[in-house]
Amino acid sequence: MVTSDCVFCRIVAGETPATVVHETATTLAFRDIHPQAPVHVLVIPKAHHADVAALAVADPGLAGDVLATAAAVAAAEGVAASGFRLVFNTGADGGQDVFHAHGHVLGGVRTGPMVAR
Ligand code: AMP
Ligand code: ZN
Repeated sequence: MVTSDCVFCRIVAGETPATVVHETATTLAFRDIHPQAPVHVLVIPKAHHADVAALAVADPGLAGDVLATAAAVAAAEGVAASGFRLVFNTGADGGQDVFHAHGHVLGGVRTGPMVAR
């Protein structure tokens, strides 16, 4: 039974497969299906919030859990020392496609300019 229209809620529910690399009581981290760097992991709160701004307002503690999970993922993926980029695309101009808050942990490469020109 499909419980949600949201693809990341379906991953949390185990209804859509994902390569999970880290899980806590409140967060889940899994590999992006279209990786844009050698390390490209998405970190989400298990609870549905549309974007990181809504998440921060509704549940700041959970937003902190997402950040802590992103740091743990970077360490586990071996990019904590070399550095990584943590991106929360938000809204149309931010290029957000999936409206369940998520951070992209991008590493293993110099990530280049922050904004395309
Ligand atoms: P954004 O543009 O910030 O909303 O990013 C959404 C990301 O989710 C993209 O990088 C997609 O490749 C990724 N994505 C979409 N569906 C899945 C999925 N089923 N499993 C893993 N990553 C996904
Ligand atoms: Zn969701």
